[in-house]
Amino acid sequence: MIREEDNGDTLALQEVAHEFAERTLRTAGEQADATGETPWPAVRAAGELGLSAPNVPEEFDGPGIRATAVATVMEELGWGNFGVAATIGSASIVAAALLIAGTEEQRQRYLHRLCSTEEPWVGALALTEPESGSELEIALKDQPQRLATRAERTPEGYRLRGAKRFITNGGMADLTVLLAATGSQEEPAGWSLFLIEKGTRGLRAGRQIPTMGLRGSYTGELYLEDCLLPENALLGPEGSGLQIVLDVLQVARTMIASAAVGLARAAYETALAYSESRKQFGRPILEHEFVAGRLARMRLDIDAARLLVQRAARDLDAGRDATLSAAEAKLFASETAVRTTQDALHIHGGYGFTRDFPMEMWVRDAIVSQIFFGTSEVQLLEIAQQMAKGV
Ligand SMILES: Cc1cc2nc3c(=O)[nH]c(=O)nc-3n(C[C@H](O)[C@H](O)[C@H](O)COP(=O)(O)OP(=O)(O)OC[C@H]3O[C@@H](n4cnc5c(N)ncnc54)[C@H](O)[C@@H]3O)c2cc1C
Repeated sequence: MIREEDNGDTLALQEVAHEFAERTLRTAGEQADATGETPWPAVRAAGELGLSAPNVPEEFDGPGIRATAVATVMEELGWGNFGVAATIGSASIVAAALLIAGTEEQRQRYLHRLCSTEEPWVGALALTEPESGSELEIALKDQPQRLATRAERTPEGYRLRGAKRFITNGGMADLTVLLAATGSQEEPAGWSLFLIEKGTRGLRAGRQIPTMGLRGSYTGELYLEDCLLPENALLGPEGSGLQIVLDVLQVARTMIASAAVGLARAAYETALAYSESRKQFGRPILEHEFVAGRLARMRLDIDAARLLVQRAARDLDAGRDATLSAAEAKLFASETAVRTTQDALHIHGGYGFTRDFPMEMWVRDAIVSQIFFGTSEVQLLEIAQQMAKGV
């Protein structure tokens, strides 16, 4: 269990997360990859250790750890299994949204549930729609008319209609933060965020979307069919959804980048151990320069990605804008995960291509790190925009 006194001690936190990743996530992730069934007991077990939403402050009964320490935890979870890490991490992302924009009442109502060590709540962030993906993830400009999901004002609150697609924990989450357009078609007021509890009438889970990787994570569809929400389900002022989303994405991108570093590290460590034990031409393959050079490159990329993640996390901890640093960390860490897992597979030769080894799963898992929370092109656009602003 994460303790409050661990907050300043990243090593102790890392140890707890690593042990859990090794003992629970490795097996759970491999089983999920084979069956396509999300390992909810492992997700719950993470919560019981305080790993679900460790960013929840102590005043709401959470461990209240800094973003730099959350990154350390996420790297270990990603090392265990990238998909299950994404599922677990969603609670932190929802907690971040509440910490950024929630009222005191909303924080009191939800934060302690997200970080609870008994039946912790699972979270979801629902932005993507069938017709809108990348444009929701980048601050080009406020384009509320493009969002098909709309929230119409009623005397009691809001009526939501629309659909969301590709949502991690979509339909399974206890609490979903969902983006919808407010105002009318003619006079859009902007994007707004809503807090929706599981079981709310009019919130319907669609199908689980079959994916090529990340099978330790539940990816689903959500439908809003005249979903009536009270006034106090609005997160932040009406029309402020875009800015809040952009702030939340800084946190989410840093966390996912960190999990991607963990995935890359798992692949590197396995490949290094294999290259020491596998002999060809009478000597371990590590002694062949091309193999050693490939491993050196993998190690360098992982170290560089981790440094970028830590820089973004430090920006978050200092209350600085992390738009640029989070985009750079996400882009580089996801590229590193893809390259490193492929290199690790290659170092295993024919064995790497078999399902007897985890490499092929890691390659499949890594690919999505370049897609969700903004594709690589979106991160590049984000970086270019910051450049143009002179940041
Ligand atoms: C497993 C998984 C889990 C996910 N989890 C979540 C979640 O929890 N919540 C959520 O809201 N969403 C989630 N997503 C959705 C994800 O964020 C989107 O798929 C992603 O943002 C891309 O959107 P899209 O699929 O609509 O692709 P599109 O936006 O249609 O993009 C298609 C291609 O065009 C490129 N492209 C688009 N616009 C531009 C541009 N302006 N310049 C250059 N290139 C461009 C893209 O980079 C991409 O290569 C998840 C997706 C997956 C696969």
